Amino acid sequence: MAAFEGITLALSKGRIFEETLPLLAAAGITPSDDPEKSRKLIIGTNRPDVRLVIVRATDTPTYVQYGAADLGIAGKDVLIEHGGDGLYQPLDLDIARCRMCVAVQKGFDYAAAARRGARIRVATKYIQTAREHFAAKGMYVDLIKLYGSMELAPLVGLADAIVDLVSSGGTLRANDLVEVEEIFSISSRLIVNQAALKLKHALLQPVIEAFAGAVK
Ligand code: ATP
Ligand code: MG
Repeated sequence: MAAFEGITLALSKGRIFEETLPLLAAAGITPSDDPEKSRKLIIGTNRPDVRLVIVRATDTPTYVQYGAADLGIAGKDVLIEHGGDGLYQPLDLDIARCRMCVAVQKGFDYAAAARRGARIRVATKYIQTAREHFAAKGMYVDLIKLYGSMELAPLVGLADAIVDLVSSGGTLRANDLVEVEEIFSISSRLIVNQAALKLKHALLQPVIEAFAGAVK
């Protein structure tokens, strides 16, 4: 493993990368490549002491937890599933906003099923979140783990309900689904490796402060 003396920031492609660019700019950091165009997974910046690593959104907390990245940006959805071990979460960046919801096919009487104490099948990528939500409501559910396209599950009889992220609701509407419960609202957080925060304090603190200033 090549040693890198500077700081490594883990980001996912897509909305998190896009919405992080203004925060990076506030910290005087400009990426040298666009991850949508380049196939590089390690991207340099205008600062020799700062580099970016491009990871799958779900993997961001893992890179930071093990110190492979000193800091990263991850959605609350991803952080709850990960559990947050070894991570310091100093800032809500108020980017990539959406909400975690329960949705069902139009016509499925979710409220009645909940009242009856019916056992329902729920498909989701967010097993931990779903388990806690239905346990708190005292509902019996069978959870089915999926990795994407959750909206399909109720349409083909795989599940009665899904737990998924919603922003505009366009995907739900296009697939004849309705939102029946909001579980929590979501934004992305800055996460920092706890050991790095001490060992690389002089490098990390100004970046954290610049991000904090840009959020306000
Ligand atoms: P993929 O879409 O490639 O399967 P992913 O869903 O893990 O990967 P993104 O779609 O880039 O990754 O989502 C990254 C983060 O952005 C999510 O963890 C969530 O916090 C937030 N997010 C997801 N969907 C939306 C949305 N529709 N609107 C706003 N923010 C969202
Ligand atoms: Mg996605």
